Amino acid sequence: MVLPGATLGVMGGGQLGRMFVHAAQRMGYFTAVLDPDESSPAGRVSHWHVRSDYLDELGLAKLCGHSDAITTEFENVPAAALARLAEHRPVSPAAAAVAIAQDRAEEKAHFTRCGVPCAPHAVITGEDQLAAIGDELFPGILKTARLGYDGKGQVRVTSRADLPAAWESLKRADCVLEKMLPLAFECSVVVARGADGVMVHLPVQRNLHRGGILAVTEVHEQCVPAALGLRAIEAAKAIAEGLQYVGVLCIEFFGLEDGSLVVNEMAPRPHNSGHWSIEGADVSQFELQVRTLAGLPLVQPRQHSPALMLNLLGDLWFPAGAANARTPDWASVLTLPGTHLHLYGKTEARPGRKMGHLTLTGPTAASVRETALDAAQRLGIEAF
Ligand code: ADP
Ligand code: MG
Repeated sequence: MVLPGATLGVMGGGQLGRMFVHAAQRMGYFTAVLDPDESSPAGRVSHWHVRSDYLDELGLAKLCGHSDAITTEFENVPAAALARLAEHRPVSPAAAAVAIAQDRAEEKAHFTRCGVPCAPHAVITGEDQLAAIGDELFPGILKTARLGYDGKGQVRVTSRADLPAAWESLKRADCVLEKMLPLAFECSVVVARGADGVMVHLPVQRNLHRGGILAVTEVHEQCVPAALGLRAIEAAKAIAEGLQYVGVLCIEFFGLEDGSLVVNEMAPRPHNSGHWSIEGADVSQFELQVRTLAGLPLVQPRQHSPALMLNLLGDLWFPAGAANARTPDWASVLTLPGTHLHLYGKTEARPGRKMGHLTLTGPTAASVRETALDAAQRLGIEAF
């Protein structure tokens, strides 16, 4: 066990690292962040900030020097860097699990091994494979196997004729072509697994994406059909167990129009769709990350309030296509009851950039939704 008073290190200085640092510090830990950016959201609030590339030997040695145990907040941290750190310090999640989550082809193979169905797909690693792809995968989505996020590295492919140009546009990278599925809704489950195999989870979260980016997460008892929610939780646990995972893992699912459940992808870290848990549950996903990393006991989190999260993207700084950034009217949304404003301290707003989020809690799911719609309108977020 790494007890409070020790230092927890994190690879990556984005908003997830920042919220991890906040949770760790609240519990009496010191923190160290490795990120090349001098104004990274987590680096700015951490006791130590090692400014280096993720694979820089000196930087990794410095992070080890500060830290008693190390985690990651950024799924594209090279698995090799985690493996290097693990030679000197306890590291979770393990490099091997992160490596699987970094590759859509391997990730899907893992889901299948765990008995959880994913979208029909084909792996593309060379030109000769394009012709061999079955007709049943069209219309589809071509996704780069690695380094995609927030809908980046994806192209929709209406028919076979579009495939060569689509693959060309992704620079002939290794890809997965997935059949386009008729989605009724999207949801996700955050699970945490300790080194002793104990697993706990947050309730099922219903997610709305716009343009491939998470826009809204809603969490309350009826947010997805109950039987499907239970299946998602069981599937998430099977996937974590199959990896012998230690840490926080988020699994994204599709609920299809025919009532079936399909797994989409996983993130080996806390997830945007779990941010509501900071105010809506008695243990947040970031405290779960601290507990799993430090080897502290895991207890099942209890949601104590219906919750809804609105992502605050950089677009809100440019109303009606304004040329110059303008700060959204925070004071106006803070007059509404049950609003919790999170801003990540990023200096420059850009369209599509995650600048912060707003969580709403309240006595009933209906009242939370009503207040959230009001907040959305005040901020210029499209109704949902
Ligand atoms: P990212 O890594 O960018 O989050 P995802 O694979 O999760 O990539 O895709 C982003 C979004 O695109 C999904 O949340 C979903 O809305 C949509 N999408 C992805 N794959 C499919 C699919 N096979 N069928 C229908 N919609 C999809
Ligand atoms: Mg996704």
